[in-house]
Amino acid sequence: RSTDTIRNFCIIAHVDHGKTTLSDRLLELTSTVELRNMKEQLLDSMDLERERGITIKSHPVSMIYQKDKEDYLFNLIDTPGHVDFSYEVSRSLAACEGALLLIDAAQGIEAQTVANAHLAVAQGLEVIPVINKVDLPSAEPERIMEQLEDVLAIPAEEAILASAKSGIGLPEIIRAVIDRVPSPRWLDEKGTRALVFDCIYDAFKGVICYVRVFSGELKQGSSISFMGSDVKTQIKEVGRFSPHMVAEDSLSGGKVGYIVTGIRDVADVKLGDTVTRMDDMAGEMLPGYKEVRPMVFSGIYPLDTSDYEKLKASVAKLRLNDAAFVYQSESSAALGFGFRCGFLGLLHMEIIQERLRREYDLDIISTYPSVIYRLRKTDGTEMEIDNPVFFPDASEIEWIEEPMIKATVHTPNDSIGDMLALISEKRGICQQTETIDTSRVMITARLPLNEILVDFNDRLKSLTHGYGSMDYEPDGYEQSDLVRMEILVNGEPIEAFSSIVHRQKAETRGRALCGKLKDLLPKQLFKVAIQAAVNGKFVARETLSAMRKDVTAKCYGGDISRKRKLLEKQKEGKKRMKQIGSVSIPQEAFVQVLRSS
Ligand code: GDP
Repeated sequence: RSTDTIRNFCIIAHVDHGKTTLSDRLLELTSTVELRNMKEQLLDSMDLERERGITIKSHPVSMIYQKDKEDYLFNLIDTPGHVDFSYEVSRSLAACEGALLLIDAAQGIEAQTVANAHLAVAQGLEVIPVINKVDLPSAEPERIMEQLEDVLAIPAEEAILASAKSGIGLPEIIRAVIDRVPSPRWLDEKGTRALVFDCIYDAFKGVICYVRVFSGELKQGSSISFMGSDVKTQIKEVGRFSPHMVAEDSLSGGKVGYIVTGIRDVADVKLGDTVTRMDDMAGEMLPGYKEVRPMVFSGIYPLDTSDYEKLKASVAKLRLNDAAFVYQSESSAALGFGFRCGFLGLLHMEIIQERLRREYDLDIISTYPSVIYRLRKTDGTEMEIDNPVFFPDASEIEWIEEPMIKATVHTPNDSIGDMLALISEKRGICQQTETIDTSRVMITARLPLNEILVDFNDRLKSLTHGYGSMDYEPDGYEQSDLVRMEILVNGEPIEAFSSIVHRQKAETRGRALCGKLKDLLPKQLFKVAIQAAVNGKFVARETLSAMRKDVTAKCYGGDISRKRKLLEKQKEGKKRMKQIGSVSIPQEAFVQVLRSS
């Protein structure tokens, strides 16, 4: 069959283990892209993506590789590299028959390696382990091979030793893709079925879906239906990636490409949905489809209220290319008009906030992140809240539940003690400790999601000196003794800093927040009280002493232009401040407070 020479595969790896480098190398070897153009074409991703070492949007690429006079079509599908996007990873994997599991020869197996390998196996993919960076002096391929057997139950002899940088093992990798990755599956199922594994928004064409066709054929002009969301439309254009989008007449079973849907709202298209043709309907959807729901919420407000319209346009634009990001307008007495936004996880939240700042040049304030709590009031009504502002009075609450996660943490042996202490500080329960090899262990723990939101990952990195890693998945809800804590500056509650915390942690958290704010707030002309309160009772307090003298004082009688300059400088400083009640709060305070409390 013509599909016998098609190989659909992806590369899964922990951040920094060399996925980008290997992808580039494969493209070079199959001479898909001219070297010169490669950087911009392929790595034409956002700065942020590169800085953070994560892939936000996956770009599939098709390449042709010749072997024994036979042309093989390789479709390489990229996968996002972070736990927040695990559903997206699983959808990308579902579009493939095989996965290269890349492991850094010096670092070894990390939390994401394990999580991704499990996802791949669960999807029925052929997993090809590749031990990368063997050129490094610190490489220990034998140790990694042992880890493969012990942790993932993958026979060591299946591993390919490689260096994406120097080219070692590259021919072996290509041969393994041809010989070990099966040709496209499920070709003969009844009806046309294609998996939507990503989508982007194009200002002219509307929503463009990246699809993997399993059976049947998608053609230009076909009337199609998205089976999960029951949205119907007509295909305006179909095509493949090589690596740009190239239009074709049709896309048949086994192939990877795109369809231009003519749909204007990304919310109508769900990742993981199955596309079928109205005149060749499939009976059943492809497996694994799920509606994703945001787990973390935060308010985003313009620092300068006159930027509201600009912020509105910007969040709408971001949303177009990120169906997992949701928002609705809200207003706050202190912060004015803004948006309540929902994210998949904390990193997703930081990405959106950073993009608003960098790409859209907006000064924004984000409120303390919150998860979704479920509660029942004494009058019998049940509700879900994701905003501390709507937290009912303590006397009205019968019970309250918080979302839990199951976390898998990889840590060097010498950090186990610190790691367990951190888990318990975060109200977690360690469930299991397994040995990975003589120097590392894997800890499985159950923790409240709320506790890992702010600084868990940073602390994990610092106490393991960068050698630890973590992965997590949602694990139901559990009742908990939670209260709303307010922060007051000069008696004025600052909504942005309100949070829902465990009663036992209120005092420590309150102290930390007040202390942090005291350092961050500029001195005012008067004394400022910074307080934390739970149910109207103060649990912490700091006092910011008054500013000593007027900045212009020393200019009395002096040069008038110097005085003007000083005032202008002061004005500039003020630009990035938010006036709340009688106190000015710098934008940095809103960001910094979240970092380390
Ligand atoms: P990704 O986060 O998985 O996409 O990783 P990258 O491809 O960006 O690689 C992370 C870092 O490792 C970069 O500095 C690469 O230059 C380096 N790197 C990747 N592959 C190799 C390799 O085979 N040998 C060595 N020495 N460095 C490598």
